Parts: sequence; C-alpha cells; structure tokens
Amino acid sequence: MSRLVNVTELLLFEMLDSTLKGVEGFCRCERCRIDVAAIALNNLPTNYVVTDEGEVKKRISVLHMQIRVDLTQAIIRAAKEVMKQPHHSR
Ligand SMILES: [Zn+2]
Repeated sequence: MSRLVNVTELLLFEMLDSTLKGVEGFCRCERCRIDVAAIALNNLPTNYVVTDEGEVKKRISVLHMQIRVDLTQAIIRAAKEVMKQPHHSR
C-alpha cells in the first residue's frame, strides 16, 4: 500500500517530547503539546512523499539531518508562544 506522508509532521512528533523537555517551565499537558505541534507545523514547509510501508523510515533518515535544526527551532519558538498564551487556565 502506497500512502502519502508529511515527513515534516512525522519528524516533528518524533522530536516533540525530547525538545519540549529542554524548554524550561513548559506545561506538560496534552493540550499545550498539541498546540505547539500545530503552531510549529504551520511555520514549517510541508514535505510530502509518496511511500510504501516500510520505506518511510528510510526516507526519514535521509531527510532527518537536513530539517532537524529547523524543527528544533520551530518547536522552541512555538513552545514560547504557547507559554505566553496557554489555551487553558493555570
Ligand atoms: Zn497545558
């Protein structure tokens, strides 16, 4: 089965938790986490590939190093935005 995969999104979720751990004082709830993902993904270029099952990992490892830095920066920027205005009360 071939499917359409946004590599940026896949990688973002792979890196999200470890990157957020480095942001001091960031709320750990699911809502803030998803908010960060949404903001970061809106600020990053999409990167769709058509891939067969099993091939995804191979494709990702090639792209990984290229966009890792961009992803880290986008996640940290988004986390700071969410911290300023969380979608819930404390
Ligand atoms: Zn929260």
